[in-house]
Amino acid sequence: MWGLSVEGLLAIRAIVFEYEQVTSASASSRAQGLAAWFTGLGQGQPVVSVDLTVYRISRIGVIAQRAGSSRVEVVWDPVIRFEKLLDYMFCRYHEGVPGKPWEHEYCTRLASTRSGYCRLHSNSVKALYELCAQGYDRACSAIASSSEKFTVYALDYGGSKLKIGLTQSWRLMWRIAEQPHVSAAGIYEEGILGARNLEKKLGRQRVATEGSAVRLIERLRLSAQLASRLLTEAGRAASRLAAMLSSLGLNGSYNALSVIPLKHSPKDFTSIRQVDLEALEGRKVRIVDYWAGIVIIEDTGGSLYTIHKSELLHRAIRGVIEEK
Ligand SMILES: [Zn+2]
Repeated sequence: MWGLSVEGLLAIRAIVFEYEQVTSASASSRAQGLAAWFTGLGQGQPVVSVDLTVYRISRIGVIAQRAGSSRVEVVWDPVIRFEKLLDYMFCRYHEGVPGKPWEHEYCTRLASTRSGYCRLHSNSVKALYELCAQGYDRACSAIASSSEKFTVYALDYGGSKLKIGLTQSWRLMWRIAEQPHVSAAGIYEEGILGARNLEKKLGRQRVATEGSAVRLIERLRLSAQLASRLLTEAGRAASRLAAMLSSLGLNGSYNALSVIPLKHSPKDFTSIRQVDLEALEGRKVRIVDYWAGIVIIEDTGGSLYTIHKSELLHRAIRGVIEEK
């Protein structure tokens, strides 16, 4: 049977994946010292419990758009031939049912702002929400009346602090999967202003960091160490997260998740040679794995490379994307 194929002038809009649950673990953290005294629970009472589910990616695809058409196609197990890279990007705007980006209509104009939008969409709710999540409070106020739900999450990247972040609620799993992580839990859901205020408040705490204060490369290295052991040590990851959430002053039960690669170890994503998109011009590669926002690609000679998904997305490409 012939698989789907998208060719000509095109753009890759997103990396998508299917997944399966591979293991789970639960852990509690008990109140200690002052926290125990303040909560009145006394030593030994659980204050935070975490139910961690570990998912493994089972299939990887790309959302691809032909230039000039607002419709997109999902191409699974994609083989991509980069005939020519063009010097422009397409506007990142798309709209449709939340959670189903492959059914969305994508903007067909070229990006003209630094944040990757055309002039028409540079003040859209989507563009403003992204600015808000990056810490521009005026952008948060501008979309305060939006009915969209946002989730504040706490992410363990394997360091001594938690990363506190904000995302559209439907995007939580995708947002976690696109950054280095051992595990992460949604801890609060609200409208944009409430969520942003809590994110700021938590991010100021000693045990937390708001946004990406710790460099991405460091978070990648630390998280790959622990995430590579998740299959056998999920309980340890759940305990770590429970203890860190407890230190943050939280109590209650939290569902946490982790997304591990299809067949490689997270450590492979730090050791395989990284390339930029320019290195792929004129070549044909297959996408074989994905973790922490990084794609592993294999060329026709069987060599493996990594490339960050931000290099791949929204760039105007002349080429062919087809199912393996
Ligand atoms: Zn646009």
